Amino acid sequence: MQPHIQNLVKLQAVDLERARLTAAARALPAEIAKAHAELAAAQRQAAEASAALSHEESLRTRLDREVAGHRQKAARVRVQLDTVTTPAQAEAIEHEIRFSEAEAERLESEEFASLERTEAQEGALATARAAVEALAVALDKTRECAALRQKEFSREQAVLATERETLRQLIEPEWLTRFDRLSGSRGTGLARAQNQQCTSCQMGVRPQTWNQLREGELLTCDSCGRLLYWDPAMAPAPPTAKS
Ligand SMILES: [Zn+2]
Repeated sequence: MQPHIQNLVKLQAVDLERARLTAAARALPAEIAKAHAELAAAQRQAAEASAALSHEESLRTRLDREVAGHRQKAARVRVQLDTVTTPAQAEAIEHEIRFSEAEAERLESEEFASLERTEAQEGALATARAAVEALAVALDKTRECAALRQKEFSREQAVLATERETLRQLIEPEWLTRFDRLSGSRGTGLARAQNQQCTSCQMGVRPQTWNQLREGELLTCDSCGRLLYWDPAMAPAPPTAKS
């Protein structure tokens, strides 16, 4: 390959690598944001489990008070049984006692159900807290790792920038201008020809062009407009003679 083609090939490789690094660096904040969102979700779950636990606790405090109230009322009314004068009065009082005791029992079984819920919620809270701890560590690691990679990217970019400048000084300005214009509009300015095709747009090249390419010329692809070259090192090996 002619030196100016070789340099353009190298320049394109450098430019593509620079673009890859830029994209990778841009993706870093998203990785941190994702780790952050996962931690926030676990924190929310822990807070919800904790709130559910306090809710059950205050529910049981209230139920305790109500149960005591019903029991006291039953005891108070039972005392009145001694002073009743008619069977109807006795019946009414007994009814009241039965009602209060039944209420106390109903509320006690509610309390029991609340205790069972609490057990489940304590498990959920422990799980959520463990998740919060693990995700906080993961977030720190993600941040550390992102910072390291950012540094590495910057270092590589600096090397590539120097390499790029050196290469550009070796290439004639007219080729650079065409290469830059194409890179700007199509992402890449240079395309390798192989098997009589442009490897960028996959369109065939005319036999005459193909011959000129194989003689080492830098031409233009009729279809995509990129600068077309042929690399003998990349050409398939000629079929070996069978013995
Ligand atoms: Zn093409």
